[in-house]
Amino acid sequence: MMPGAADLWSEAPSISFLSESGAKRRMKIKAAVLSGPGKKLAITELDLAEPRDQEVLVKISACGVCHTDLWVQDYSRHYPIVLGHETSGIIEKTGKGVTGLQPGDPVVLSYTYCGECEACRSGRTYECEHLYDFFEGLRLDGTSPRSLRGKPVAALIGQGGFAAYTVCHKNTVVKVDGGFDLQLLGPLGCGVLTGAGSVLNCLKPAKKKAIAIGGVGCVGLSALMAAKRSGCSPIIAIDRIPGRLEMAKELGATHCINGDETDISAEIKKFCGGVDYAFDTSGNRRLLDALRIRLNPGASACGVGIGGSMNLSRKEKEQGKTWEDTTAGWSVPQKLIPRLLAWHKAGKFPFDRMIKVFPFDEINEAFEANRSGSVIKPVVVIDRGYSSRAR
Ligand SMILES: [Zn+2]
Ligand SMILES: [Zn+2]
Repeated sequence: MMPGAADLWSEAPSISFLSESGAKRRMKIKAAVLSGPGKKLAITELDLAEPRDQEVLVKISACGVCHTDLWVQDYSRHYPIVLGHETSGIIEKTGKGVTGLQPGDPVVLSYTYCGECEACRSGRTYECEHLYDFFEGLRLDGTSPRSLRGKPVAALIGQGGFAAYTVCHKNTVVKVDGGFDLQLLGPLGCGVLTGAGSVLNCLKPAKKKAIAIGGVGCVGLSALMAAKRSGCSPIIAIDRIPGRLEMAKELGATHCINGDETDISAEIKKFCGGVDYAFDTSGNRRLLDALRIRLNPGASACGVGIGGSMNLSRKEKEQGKTWEDTTAGWSVPQKLIPRLLAWHKAGKFPFDRMIKVFPFDEINEAFEANRSGSVIKPVVVIDRGYSSRAR
């Protein structure tokens, strides 16, 4: 069990909201700020306003680096912006309209959805009509709780996890059980959710069927662990980085293919003839074509690669082959994350094996490690306090 909120905060620095022109109260926070395209992140002091009625204040434990952070580092709709969208932390304060969450709750932050549009009301929060508005980092009314010398600062996906605190929408937050090492849980909110969800929610594989996974970074490896948990066999992992293929083997791949060194399609044919399921994270044309050629009749394929879909011919579609783009792995975070954590607790979903932690002041090194592929999942630790006390 997690300790009570009072214990947690007894050692933590007290928060003082600075009064600003009476009504609005703000606190000072440290955040890694991106001020323009391609720039390095600079740890800067920002002002953070109190949560509104439907928002919560979260004290951040750690935040994973995802490829989306790298893309946004090169192009964002808004500057300045705080990146980071694989955040874990503790609820510090809730807005007046928030139910079911309270101070002291350990949480993982995932994508933000409005909860009110037709897609959200019918349970497809991953198709929320405001998904990209939240992605870009301001509230729907164009404001932000964080600011720098009075100017609004955006927060990627409504999180802004590379900071000491965030104020985010209540729907961004997933309450988790105590007893886990909180600083390792952030990647559940994006990379792990997307990979595992694509297999569990879209492919829904049958036991003893063949699956191929193209690109085994965090998303691909999470898909691989979900495929193993689903009883798929063989499980074929394809990548060009040897270290990732080694990790794939450790996590359950039965066959590994280095796409740079060999004919991918011929290798799959040699292993098992063809596959019943395929998942692609690379968006790489050569890899997608190789997977496409090896789909068995009736095979399901899906992917999350930016700009890369599988172009099935009419004939292939008539053979029952399908392709889907799986935003967020078609996952509802509040449902999938507790399920994955239960598997993790039972030793059946060791996503923590992908993680290497970096201190906050080495955030640019963590980004570089992700860009080069030398670390599968860098996680930037903002506050070690909770984890050491919770163990
Ligand atoms: Zn991400
Ligand atoms: Zn919505």
